[in-house]
Amino acid sequence: MSLTEKLVAPQIRDLVAYQSARRIGGVGQVYLNANESAFPPFAMPEGESWQRYPDFLPAELGRSYRDYLACDSIKESNVLAVRGADEAIDLLVRCYCEPRVDAITINVPTYSMYDFVAEAHQVQRREISLASDFQLDAEQNASAGLASKLIWICNPNNPTGNLLRLDSILAVAQANRERAFVVVDEAYIEFCPEQSLVGAIASNPNLIVLRTLSKAFALAAVRVGFVLAHETVIAMLAKLIPPYPMPDPSARIALAAISQDGLRTMRRQRDAVVSLRSQYREQLASLPCVEKIYPSETNFLLLKFSDSVAVFGHLQSRGIILRDQHHHARLHNHLRITIGTEEELKLLIDALTEYTGKP
Ligand SMILES: *Cc1c(COP(=O)(O)O)cnc(C)c1O
Repeated sequence: MSLTEKLVAPQIRDLVAYQSARRIGGVGQVYLNANESAFPPFAMPEGESWQRYPDFLPAELGRSYRDYLACDSIKESNVLAVRGADEAIDLLVRCYCEPRVDAITINVPTYSMYDFVAEAHQVQRREISLASDFQLDAEQNASAGLASKLIWICNPNNPTGNLLRLDSILAVAQANRERAFVVVDEAYIEFCPEQSLVGAIASNPNLIVLRTLSKAFALAAVRVGFVLAHETVIAMLAKLIPPYPMPDPSARIALAAISQDGLRTMRRQRDAVVSLRSQYREQLASLPCVEKIYPSETNFLLLKFSDSVAVFGHLQSRGIILRDQHHHARLHNHLRITIGTEEELKLLIDALTEYTGKP
């Protein structure tokens, strides 16, 4: 029995996937099987066609993403395109966790959707604190699978920005091999591509990797992400995903983004972000209100201020909105700053300099 069969929530095990017209398929000239409109929609861009339901899961998109990964052990059957990594988080919790019975484990501080989705589905949440250097607590994670079906690891981690050691993540996967999935969220991996664990999926069938086009690929509005996992996991998620998961315009935009030209653009922009990040790290470090700047392998920086509430309020009054981390027990007085354009970062430095000059 595969781990996916062993862990699947009972209400999902017996569920038969909804048989949409596209899933049932059939090739003809006249399609009268999906109650679509026969007419083109209002204000459609030239060359587009929107009145038909999209393919169940656009095969070309999965294939192209697989090619982008350039990893021999990943086949098309290991790839599922989803509407952003956030949809994947929801699908995984619904697929494997029985409400009021099962639990997940998160390594905090981390991306808050893992906790939110579990709570929304009445799934228990167990927290393990990252160590003082924000690395995994290996011992606690090794036994996490005794009471949790999903162990969430964000790498590089949001909001701390650091990389977790790959050997420690793989040790967690090994220790829980027979009893829990380890989900590695690689939303920022394009900023440190050599740190991806995609190549380890084949030898670790309980390892699931999440990806997105929302960050380095600059397509947050388009809502495209990917799940990379053992084919039994992909098949189980595909059973639960809604009938027409991927909007056609999104699939087409995503395909362009992972074409050779698209990849060149992404890498050029990524390199620009990395160089702005180091340039502005230095400028920010010289400001007296800044107490600490953490290492980052992402497109954001985590900073500790002497008074983050005052800084946040001052910047807000100047129209500059940062992400407040003060609510995390471990991150009092911390703010997260996205690496924006050079102009945006100049405005930020000006406003912080003005704040410093205040009596
Ligand atoms: C932004 C982000 C996501 C959400 O990605 P979408 O593909 O836009 O849903 C998921 N995980 C982490 C860690 C993120 O920072």
